[in-house]
Amino acid sequence: MTDNKTILVTQSSMPPFEEYVDEIRSIWETHWLTNMGEKHHQLEEDLKAYLGIDNIALFVNGHSALECVLEAMDLHGKVITTPFTFASTTHAIVRVGLEPVFADIDPVTYTMDPNSIEALIDEDTCAIMPVHVYGNLCDVDAIASIAKRHNLKVIYDAAHAFGVLKDGVSSACFGDASMFSFHATKVFNTIEGGAVCFHDPSLKEKLDQWKNFGITGLETVEYVGGNAKMNEFAAAMGICNLRHLQDEIAKRKLVVERYHERLEGVPGIVMSKPQPHVTPNYAYLPVVFEDDFGATRDEVRDSLAANKVFSRKYFYPLTSDFECYEGRFDSSATPVAAHIAKRVLTLPMYADLALEDVDRICDMVLATRHA
Ligand SMILES: *Cc1c(COP(=O)(O)O)cnc(C)c1O
Repeated sequence: MTDNKTILVTQSSMPPFEEYVDEIRSIWETHWLTNMGEKHHQLEEDLKAYLGIDNIALFVNGHSALECVLEAMDLHGKVITTPFTFASTTHAIVRVGLEPVFADIDPVTYTMDPNSIEALIDEDTCAIMPVHVYGNLCDVDAIASIAKRHNLKVIYDAAHAFGVLKDGVSSACFGDASMFSFHATKVFNTIEGGAVCFHDPSLKEKLDQWKNFGITGLETVEYVGGNAKMNEFAAAMGICNLRHLQDEIAKRKLVVERYHERLEGVPGIVMSKPQPHVTPNYAYLPVVFEDDFGATRDEVRDSLAANKVFSRKYFYPLTSDFECYEGRFDSSATPVAAHIAKRVLTLPMYADLALEDVDRICDMVLATRHA
């Protein structure tokens, strides 16, 4: 038992120290630290094999990957997206000069509700950017048919969905492109890192040039690119972590199952349900505290924090309510997203979280209820 110790909302997965040291040893021979070296190449190959995809480009982080793919696809106009996401999704759209248009979310999966997309499409719409929230897969079939009907690109923010499968097909395969984040807090990490997986092979060269200042030859620079290359130490971390990923996901499963045993069915508590045909990655543990729970989400968060257990209001606020977008969007137009954002809390969730600690956390959550 581990009474009274601090529990953070997540703990980054790391390979055994010796394994990482072995992996980076060759870097001391080559002195090749970045710019698409041996480790970078190796991680691309490992990921292609793991995800069952043909095309991938690695990046310094997921956010840069998202900005880069939007630019490389040469999009202009409006992008239909969701406000129930991390800052990155909306910021990427805005920072490359596109205009976000917010669809509402589904009350069960918290992903974009396909029924709310079509009414938002007009002649300026160029793309849809849905998010696989908490690793819950979007309704990829419905989104694909809307995109086809209106000739729109689909770029998934798949930052939460690494390792998730639908009928055995990896989440990397849906839409025209999918962005993954390999940030330290994600199910699979390269410390900081990210990737774009895509179908059109001609994007590969463009993305690799875009992340390297738009340099296309020894003396030619054809694009106004940025600098978003993954370095060799990050790639080496990814090579190691990928070897242990299935074990990590199996351990996460036990933690999620324990949370569900303890909290599922409690009046006022809503938890994510398994999606049919989907193999999950157990990335997060979102709990929605409805008004009949007997305590508000904020009261639960505060009482956990008083016991040194740190949860996260994720996602709150909606991106459409950020100060930097004041006056531009109206979050009352996405009522389901607004409802969930006010009531959701993600509880501590990581592979090495002890089941006794899960019990302790659940006891604290339940004790918050007013008599
Ligand atoms: C983590 C995350 C990102 C950004 O990824 P970084 O690698 O941190 O840049 C984007 N979207 C979502 C939904 C995320 O959770």
